[in-house]
Amino acid sequence: MAKKMLEGKVAIITGAASGIGEAAARLFAAQGAFVVIADIQDQLGLAVAASIGPGRCSYRHCDVTDEEQVESAVAHAVSARGRLDIMYSNAGVMGPAAGVVDLDKAEFDRAMAVNVGGAALAIKHAARAMLAGGVRGAIVCTASATGHQAGLGPAAYTVSKHALVGLVRAAAGELGSGGIRVNCVSPFGVATPMSCGLNGLTPEMLEATSCRLSNLKGTVLKASHVAQAALFLASDQSVYVSGHDLLVDGGSTVVYAGLQQLIGSSRL
Ligand code: NAD
Repeated sequence: MAKKMLEGKVAIITGAASGIGEAAARLFAAQGAFVVIADIQDQLGLAVAASIGPGRCSYRHCDVTDEEQVESAVAHAVSARGRLDIMYSNAGVMGPAAGVVDLDKAEFDRAMAVNVGGAALAIKHAARAMLAGGVRGAIVCTASATGHQAGLGPAAYTVSKHALVGLVRAAAGELGSGGIRVNCVSPFGVATPMSCGLNGLTPEMLEATSCRLSNLKGTVLKASHVAQAALFLASDQSVYVSGHDLLVDGGSTVVYAGLQQLIGSSRL
């Protein structure tokens, strides 16, 4: 039988009560990791942890904008399991739907506080625990295709995901000397409560829109596909990969589709 990719590892996944984080929690646990789900949706998080199994997963209430709660989630993993190998900082919010001209500064700050500040706190406390324990750990963040290209999401969200890619690069530079790798995954549109909530779309409508806009045809992007990319970056299979942003976007952000649409063919 093939060795599991995360056998014996201890992982924290923020925002794992739902969507991409939940898919990652299930996959990481199936690959042998003990997973701590850190989220603010207690009922959902406890239910996901229970369905994965008490010996393989636990739930911890953790608002990533609150430094004490992030520090305490990391301390919980280390005291329960003796070490922290993986931090998957995935929690995120869509933030305000408005563009720059109509931006509400308080709403903008809230989106930045979760999507960037929360990731910075997760990286900070995970890295401290890894350095203190002599663990050559892996940190993964969920950025977004909107961190590469404007026009795919609201302004504050787009800004926050660009900043997150910068945070990942800065942290990779700082933590390389300690043997800690820092990377991110950048998905295109996936049907989750967050993405569907923006415009009140059903999952089917969100997926149909995502497929229409995507460069890659014939595959519907699912949370599990993003979890697979995060698994690669969290595992020793990416042992020399750091500071990398793994786009899970079917090539959409590197292909300009306007000319193809104009001439009615993708064969340029
Ligand atoms: P989701 O709503 O299913 O999951 C987000 C989770 O984050 C929820 O469980 C929520 O409770 C949690 N969360 C929100 N604020 C938090 C906080 N302050 N502290 C702790 N947890 C908090 O949505 P998702 O699509 O699975 O989102 C996961 C990540 O993927 C986000 O960072 C999002 O920006 C990113 N992303 C999503 C898409 C998409 O199309 N769904 C595309 C690109 C990137």
